[in-house]
Amino acid sequence: MDAVIVGAGTFGASLAWRLVRAGERVTLVDQYEPGDGRASSGGETRLLRCAHGPDREYPLLARRARALWRELEQESGERLYVECGLAWFAHREDGWEAESERALAALAIPCERVDAARLYPSFRADDLVFTLLEPEAGVLRAQRAVRALAAQARRHGARLLRARARPDGARARLEDGTCLEGDVVVWACGAWLPRLFPGVVELTVTLQELLFVDGGPAWRAPGVPAWVDYDRARYGTPDLDGLGVKAAVDEEGPEVDPDDELRCAATTEPRVRSYLAERFPALAEAPLRGARACRYELTRDTHFVAARHPEHPAVWLVGGGSGHGFKHGPALAERLAAAFEGAPLPERFGLGPRAPSRSMRTAGAAASAGRQGGPA
Ligand SMILES: Cc1cc2nc3c(=O)[nH]c(=O)nc-3n(C[C@H](O)[C@H](O)[C@H](O)COP(=O)(O)OP(=O)(O)OC[C@H]3O[C@@H](n4cnc5c(N)ncnc54)[C@H](O)[C@@H]3O)c2cc1C
Repeated sequence: MDAVIVGAGTFGASLAWRLVRAGERVTLVDQYEPGDGRASSGGETRLLRCAHGPDREYPLLARRARALWRELEQESGERLYVECGLAWFAHREDGWEAESERALAALAIPCERVDAARLYPSFRADDLVFTLLEPEAGVLRAQRAVRALAAQARRHGARLLRARARPDGARARLEDGTCLEGDVVVWACGAWLPRLFPGVVELTVTLQELLFVDGGPAWRAPGVPAWVDYDRARYGTPDLDGLGVKAAVDEEGPEVDPDDELRCAATTEPRVRSYLAERFPALAEAPLRGARACRYELTRDTHFVAARHPEHPAVWLVGGGSGHGFKHGPALAERLAAAFEGAPLPERFGLGPRAPSRSMRTAGAAASAGRQGGPA
């Protein structure tokens, strides 16, 4: 099979790695170097967790992806996944966390209720009913992982091209006029997908901030788990690689153009600080170490897009990571490779209108309500 893949983020680069290792001929095209900070996959770190409320499909996808990231580590000799665990802070006995606990237990994926005060150097739990720990969740070194995927794909024989492409019927046309054809032509173009396929792919592109504070040695990974407060749409990671403790508001930021320059004004700092003061009092006054901006490419229901183009059977559209897609890259690539041979993909990844539904990312009810500045 000849495969042309446009977009070397987690979805495209994972697919290139998967196909070329299966003996297929692969051309991987990106307008930037893999891991560039303008791509959603270009951040330093991304969470890997299996809990997705009552959902049973994403946990299995994430679990499979964990094994494949480990395989990439073996192959590349790089340490890409830090299994520091991840704690879910539950405000209700019958919420997202309890549903996750039941789903993970049924799938034999480890999780347990713990005393969170033992996990963190400083912790306040007055508003929590329990804490659910996923001990085998953790943090991926995302940018390095994407670079490793592309490098390993190249090592196995994939051709990597740096160029901007646009669709031309079933082909990919590069700026210099070159046309690329394949048995499959996959567009895994992140936030740029709706512009390339107007009326076919619908995504909202928003600006998201990530803040890093200096917590000192006590907060370093892997000794401290990552955390998610789903109902309050807040999450963070321990200090990995000296970046500082990451803390973010997972409410949808302002809509942006994918080609706009990414500037981080740290507008979420007051809300991040107020959360840190409540939950991790020792971090309340921790100096700001850094701030980053990144783009979400959101479907209405936060389920991914992975589907054949309605008019061109060889063309596939893949994206809509919706703030939780990174971890799944290598596992979704396996599903796509099988789909090229005729296996079905989940219907909910199809094109067409989507009804808004509960967020699969780390944001519960507060997610959209907080757009443009909600409560702390
Ligand atoms: C702040 C933030 C936090 C997140 N946290 C997590 C998390 O903790 N865990 C998690 O699993 N996920 C997380 N995500 C989501 C995850 O990062 C994304 O869903 C995922 O990286 C999207 O990957 P992608 O391959 O679809 O897109 P991208 O990584 O954006 O890759 C698309 C690529 O296509 C290229 N491209 C686009 N158009 C063209 C063209 N015309 N020609 C050539 N190349 C083109 C781009 O240059 C880019 O490299 C987070 C995202 C953000 C922004």
